[in-house]
This record gives sequence, C-alpha cells and structure tokens, in this order.
Amino acid sequence: MRVVSCGLTDVGLKREGNEDSLICLDDPGLYAVADGMGGHAAGEVASQTAVAVVADSVRQALAQAAQPGTVLEPGQRHVQVLEQSVLQANQRICTLSQENPSYGGMGTTFSGLLLGDGRAAIAHVGDSRIYLLRDGDFSAVTNDHSWVNEQLQRHVITAEEARTHRWRNVITRALGNRLDLEVDTDSLVLRPGDVFLLCSDGLSGMVPDTALAKALKTMGEDPLDTAHDLVDQAKDAGGDDNITLVILRVLE
Ligand code: CA
Repeated sequence: MRVVSCGLTDVGLKREGNEDSLICLDDPGLYAVADGMGGHAAGEVASQTAVAVVADSVRQALAQAAQPGTVLEPGQRHVQVLEQSVLQANQRICTLSQENPSYGGMGTTFSGLLLGDGRAAIAHVGDSRIYLLRDGDFSAVTNDHSWVNEQLQRHVITAEEARTHRWRNVITRALGNRLDLEVDTDSLVLRPGDVFLLCSDGLSGMVPDTALAKALKTMGEDPLDTAHDLVDQAKDAGGDDNITLVILRVLE
C-alpha cells in the first residue's frame, strides 16, 4: 500500500504554548493527533506521552506479531495492536499524573489510524477527529466524546449551537482520567484515492466541515500545501486554539 502523508502543527494566534502532538509515520503506517489539557505545560506532557507510548508500543507489537508462530486474524490484528497501545499510553499518563502533583488532572485526546492488511484500524478518544473523503463524500469517521455532541445527539441543541456553545470544549472521555478507559475502535477496508484528515479541535472548531471538504477535494500533489492552507483558514477564523492536522492519501 502506497500513501502520501504530511503532518503540521501550529500554536495558533491566542495560546502561548502548543499542547497538541502528532504522529505521521509511513512506516509502520501510523498516524495520529493528540490534544492535551492541563495547567503548567501538563497538557503538552500528556499529548507527547500519548504519541510516544503509542508509537513505541505499536512498533513492538508489530515486531512480535511478525514472528513465526504468531497467529492473528487479519483485519482485527491492527485494531487490537492500536487499542492496546492507546490503553498503555493511558496507563502511563495516569501514573505520571498521580506521581507528580503539577501534572494532576492532565489528559489528552487521541485519534489515530494504523494501516495494514489493506485496512485502516481506528482508535479514538475525545474530540479530535478523523475525516474520510471517499468518492467525493466527506464525513467524520469518529464521534466526538464531548458534552455538546451528547446534547446534539439527544437533539437538545442544534449543530450551529454546538459550534458556538460555551461548553463546546468540555470533553467526556480522555486519556489520563481513569484506568478503565473505553476506546472507540473501527476498521475500514481502504480504497485507492481515500483521503484521511486527522485534526484537533483548533482546526475542526474554527473551519466548517464544508471548507475542510473543499480543501481536500481540491488538493494537489503535495498534501502539505493543503495543510498550510487549512492552518491559514483556522487563523483567519481567529486561531483561538492550537491547530494540528495529519493528511494522508491512499495511492494504491
Ligand atoms: Ca484543542
């Protein structure tokens, strides 16, 4: 499977530090964004720990799985590897937070893809998002773990109200809060031409889905041009938060 990919992160216009982290590794085909939260740079520690532990743990698990005698279901294998890696990262962040008073209450979102066996395994916690552009249709393949999304799904508020609600940043699930974390997982069969966009809410909260779709549909050879364009759009809309995205296109 051949892909072209890029990752880009920007502090935005209002924040002093960047609490977002990302993974963009064509080998082993691992892509993710993590949006940290917590005072005194703890958010940075949380998101950096998440991406570091997941990247390490995925590499180790895939190396073990490649050994003769290991039997794993194609399709399910990458989902398990990714989910277990996210759980390990959660455990590490919980431990760090318990051992260091200055890290108390820190947490992070995590939305990641692991490619393999012609599929994309998905693992998702929090309100970062993974979108898929396929055959001209653009939609999110993740479901925000946020207060406003819960209200939206119960039809208590409208989509427009959700975008501007003062509690729009309240998330209901994050790494670092509890050991028995529930990770949303999925597995998609890839098709040539699929384009994935992974992003933190500093992009999806500032730039409407219609504009994200348009940017991906008109993307040229180099996804980095599109990534810079989207960061500029988030800044033009106010740049209230850190802006992080990963774009990958499946070529064949
Ligand atoms: Ca954010």
